Amino acid sequence: MPGFPRLQEAYDVVVLGGGHAGLQAGLKAALLNYTAAVIDRGPKFSRSFYAPRMENIPGFPSGISGHKLLDLQIEQLRQVEGKVGYFTPARASAVRPVDGGFDVDFEWLMQSRSTRGRALVLAMGVVDRMPDVGGQIEPLFPWANFAIVDFCILCDGHLYPGKRTAVLGHDVFAARTALDLLHFGAGPVEILTNGKPFLGEADDATRSSLVAELAARTITWVETPFAGFDGIREKVLIVQFSDGTSRRYDKGFSALGWYSMNSEIPRSLGARFDPEGYVVTDEDCRVISETTGAAIPGLYCVGDLRNGWNQVPEAWATAERAIVHAYSYYL
Ligand SMILES: Cc1cc2nc3c(=O)[nH]c(=O)nc-3n(C[C@H](O)[C@H](O)[C@H](O)COP(=O)(O)OP(=O)(O)OC[C@H]3O[C@@H](n4cnc5c(N)ncnc54)[C@H](O)[C@@H]3O)c2cc1C
Repeated sequence: MPGFPRLQEAYDVVVLGGGHAGLQAGLKAALLNYTAAVIDRGPKFSRSFYAPRMENIPGFPSGISGHKLLDLQIEQLRQVEGKVGYFTPARASAVRPVDGGFDVDFEWLMQSRSTRGRALVLAMGVVDRMPDVGGQIEPLFPWANFAIVDFCILCDGHLYPGKRTAVLGHDVFAARTALDLLHFGAGPVEILTNGKPFLGEADDATRSSLVAELAARTITWVETPFAGFDGIREKVLIVQFSDGTSRRYDKGFSALGWYSMNSEIPRSLGARFDPEGYVVTDEDCRVISETTGAAIPGLYCVGDLRNGWNQVPEAWATAERAIVHAYSYYL
């Protein structure tokens, strides 16, 4: 068992979040001969912790679980522990810009700590929303853990040919997701709104064009609230409704969006957000200021939190870009 890292007063780079992006940022910083601190709540808060099989990871022809991939990245980071402190479970709570860098407050081992980074990398990711069943979000967890219900169409769309599919959601995003799943050969597809009016918040023109498109593709919707789920032993999703009926699907797909986009720290630093709530960066992953429209010196955002697409290779690539930029122009 590795020991606890010793917290330094200051590092060249401080990374907030130690999922795929943050771990890679810490590794790259060390390889470029910088000191770094990676401050992470823990792998179980990474989106990929619940991905049982990723099939787009180079070097793993049989696929690899997100859990195992995080373990391998952590093992690799531990090899450079002379340069990088990996602080976990630790939760970053506040950041203040100071002359020549950023002061970071975090909780680690039940105590409040602080450190300073000349450069700061935001890599806190985003958090998926789960369906609410009578005020609880836990009922769907087993189906998510077995990947009977998926959350990422770019990751898992290829698993849908011929699958009877329930799309969980009620808005324009849910309607578009249902249509997108047809591209992957899913069918039949139904949208389950869990008691919300379907397309209730859409304007009239959007609603009528989407309804026509869904009808043309024979996609239907059900607005009855959920009462629970069944079918885990048979590896199917049976949705039980509050009116006593139930429906059976091979797969479920969540189109519920994000529960949290970890916006608090980037907002406190003056970051610009895109309309979906992602942090806006330039192509070197420098955070763009909401007020000036220019890059904020020394501040980077990588992985899912940044405006890009949400997959592991993108998390790695953005982490590399940020650290290489910091090496070339900032540190
Ligand atoms: C079910 C599922 C299946 C997926 N399948 C695939 C796939 O097959 N292929 C693929 O490429 N991608 C897949 N993805 C997407 C992939 O998981 C994400 O793109 C990837 O995890 C993003 O990496 P990240 O480092 O940006 O964020 P994350 O991996 O989510 O890591 C964020 C980290 O930040 C930490 N954190 C958050 N807030 C704080 C804070 N305040 N202080 C300290 N730490 C904090 C968390 O503990 C977490 O470890 C899947 C996602 C899901 C949900």
